[in-house]
Amino acid sequence: MAAPVLTRLERILDLEEKQGWRNRGVIGGLQAMAERWSVDARAAGLDATQINVLVESMRAYGAATPTDRPTLAAQIRRAATGDYALPPPVSTAAPAVSEIPEVPAAYGDDETDDSLPAIPAGEAEQQAVETEPASSVRPVAMTGQPGLGVAYEHMDEDDELAIPPPEPTHVAQARIARQKARDRRNPRDLQARVTIISGVGETTAEQLARLGIEKVVDLLWHLPIRYDDYSQMRTIDSLRPGEQVTIIANLWEIRERKIGVNRVMVQGILGDSTGTLHATWWNRWITRQLKPGSMLRFSGKVGLYMGQKTLDNPAFEDLDEERVATGRMSPVYPLTEGVHNNRLRTLIFDALDTYAPLVEDPLPADVCEAYDLPDLPTALNQVHFPDDQAQMMRARRRLAFEELLYIQLGMQQRRATLRQEAAQPLPLGDDAFEQYVATLPFALTGAQQRVIGEMRLDLGRTVPMTRLVQGDVGSGKTAVAAAALWAAVATSAQAALLAPTQILAEQHHGSISRMLGQLVRPDGKPTRVALLTGRVTGQEREQALAGLADGSIDIAVGTTALIQEGVEFKNLGLAIVDEQHRFGVEQRGALRTRTSTQPHLLVMSATPIPRSLALTVYGDLDVSRIDEMPPGRTPIKTRRFTPAERERLYSFMRREVEAGRQAYVIYPLVEESDKLDVGAAVDEHKRLQETIFPEFNVGLLHGRMTGSEKDQVMRDFAAGRYQILVSTTVIEVGIDVPNATVMVVEDAERFGLAQLHQLRGRVGRGEHASYCALISRTEIPDVRERLEILAGTNDGFVLAEKDLELRGPGDFFGTRQSGLPNLRIAHLTDIETIAAARQAALKLLAADPMLARHPLLQRQVERFWRGHGDVN
Ligand code: ADP
Ligand code: MG
Repeated sequence: MAAPVLTRLERILDLEEKQGWRNRGVIGGLQAMAERWSVDARAAGLDATQINVLVESMRAYGAATPTDRPTLAAQIRRAATGDYALPPPVSTAAPAVSEIPEVPAAYGDDETDDSLPAIPAGEAEQQAVETEPASSVRPVAMTGQPGLGVAYEHMDEDDELAIPPPEPTHVAQARIARQKARDRRNPRDLQARVTIISGVGETTAEQLARLGIEKVVDLLWHLPIRYDDYSQMRTIDSLRPGEQVTIIANLWEIRERKIGVNRVMVQGILGDSTGTLHATWWNRWITRQLKPGSMLRFSGKVGLYMGQKTLDNPAFEDLDEERVATGRMSPVYPLTEGVHNNRLRTLIFDALDTYAPLVEDPLPADVCEAYDLPDLPTALNQVHFPDDQAQMMRARRRLAFEELLYIQLGMQQRRATLRQEAAQPLPLGDDAFEQYVATLPFALTGAQQRVIGEMRLDLGRTVPMTRLVQGDVGSGKTAVAAAALWAAVATSAQAALLAPTQILAEQHHGSISRMLGQLVRPDGKPTRVALLTGRVTGQEREQALAGLADGSIDIAVGTTALIQEGVEFKNLGLAIVDEQHRFGVEQRGALRTRTSTQPHLLVMSATPIPRSLALTVYGDLDVSRIDEMPPGRTPIKTRRFTPAERERLYSFMRREVEAGRQAYVIYPLVEESDKLDVGAAVDEHKRLQETIFPEFNVGLLHGRMTGSEKDQVMRDFAAGRYQILVSTTVIEVGIDVPNATVMVVEDAERFGLAQLHQLRGRVGRGEHASYCALISRTEIPDVRERLEILAGTNDGFVLAEKDLELRGPGDFFGTRQSGLPNLRIAHLTDIETIAAARQAALKLLAADPMLARHPLLQRQVERFWRGHGDVN
């Protein structure tokens, strides 16, 4: 009796005959199966010569044309039955053009010159044997490495592009030689328009432009959003009973078997190069749907039937054989109307082939080596058409590293610039500090004391301070800022405090004046604080400007008007920027241009971002955290409500308002331009004012109002002229109305945790107990959980970490919000790569501060930051 390995081979040949000798009986062809088959054959104890003859014949079969294959098949059959004394057959193969997946035409104007020669099949497939050992595919559920945020899906069959197998060396060499000859005539240009590529006309160019692809180089940077993975193959011999699997196999035969009186079992035999497997269905219609000889994807649970492995009632789907046979990860791109994925794949495949070698790598070779990064051409090739998942990850890591390195280099250079000129030291002595503490109506918290201590050290030096103070809403950043302002005044210098809105500037002006106005300058005069905003005009403004210029005014509090209009200081020693995240990186340095010496810089932010992110977003700054709330705060009571409970909430609001308190009602606004949602706020305002609370004054605030309109509404609310304020999220920025105790957030699930927390920070600012009601109609458990988390803690940093965890990288902290340039591939949450890039940047700059020895790198850093850089 013939060994099973031989039976298997014969079966495949039967199938080949039925299908017209297409070499499709097993995935990858007989040649792909040969190596593995030989292992099985040795294990089965076959004669070594017989195995050799058969393996050689199988390879020859793969290389041959369909016309020659019957002869070779006959030889194999003979050898299988013991007639193998003959020398192995020599391949008679003429190039089997039709068997090779078509290679996309290369770039060029000369079509005949560019069409690739037929690849000698034997060689091409020899390589295929090495790279594609297995012939059964399983779509493996994979998740991207968190930091890379890559999504995978498997094997959708809607659009296909067979990626050609690796080119044999001599063919490649010939092609390169031809290419070079042509280049001398027509040098290739990465910056050329895409229309330079043959087959790309104006219509395609227009479509590509919608994807941001205009130049050839843009094609190389049009990165896949995910991959269809055909590389993770499961073979029949590796299946274990009980497993839920998906395999790709050939349906060798199918038959019905009567079981009992009127039950019919349909049994199929599935095969790949490693073995066969039975499939059973209990539905006779299956026979109509399945054609023997077809290559299909089967999914089901592996069972045992009479000692044999089976798939019970597997689901099945058609497959594109060629694409599967390539057994690789296949890119899926962001698309636009008229441009299909397979078209893009071909274009990009082409472009990579011709242009990737021309791409200059801005990363120094030693950096690539130290961090195990592939060079740029390799990374581009692998990110589009990865050899395997590991290569893909490596490529993505390299590209992410590059972006993060640009961030770090830019940040560090900015830091160096900020610190290069001398600052006047503003040492705050213990006595002066005590004077300041004495003006406060409260005792500083431990965190406030620690952060002030860190600042005092910085301020005492001649190197300008570049410090960020991060503290949750209500943590008392103003008192910290005031200590720094006082350090300037007590050393006879001036200071400026920049706020993002007029109202905030006014509030700061009020509280700073109250604190520091009681203190006396070294020359015996009282400390003077001036307000400079768009609303301060005429004589008032003239006086403020004159006072700052002659030094009689110590502190200017204002909006960006402070940096925009030529305000002169006599001796500016310190600049403070509040609510930093509203400004963006570029404005951090703006104030320092006002004087010859450089002022110390303090930025404050209420955006609680995880520490790792701070390294990137605030890479140019030292970071201090106020991680403790002033004592005696009644935590804001937060609860989720259903829309049905709205009436109850309204009664509650009414009681609070009647007790003298105020309330906010917030409606979501999806991104900036959403008319509809402004409409919701407008409509709801009308309803609340006219129907629900006719006895109260209900104000309305939304992003479509002008700056001064908004200002007026906020002012009126702060003054108590409105009891209830209906608003979109424009309210988010740090307005302080301590009398407001209720916040109702509609459609709360549409906000992120961090944003809800910011919103919630508008209440709970005074002595009264405060409440935050999150109205959400959704019953989705995840969403409910998210809102419950908010109800569970008042700690912004805890929420930031949670938000990061729940929403994943990318979403959590938009680059727009961070003030950084757009990132193509890197994520601000990819802590490891951030750390590596930071280390590399520090090392590079230590040896070469201006990157003079790395001009390309320096150019790239500048390009990356263009339009985002420091104002100077
Ligand atoms: P934020 O960090 O949000 O800017 P503020 O500086 O506006 O916070 O402070 C919020 C409130 O807490 C203010 O009313 C302030 O007077 C008060 N506050 C600040 N520090 C303390 C403290 N150590 N003890 C008690 N109350 C404090
Ligand atoms: Mg504040």
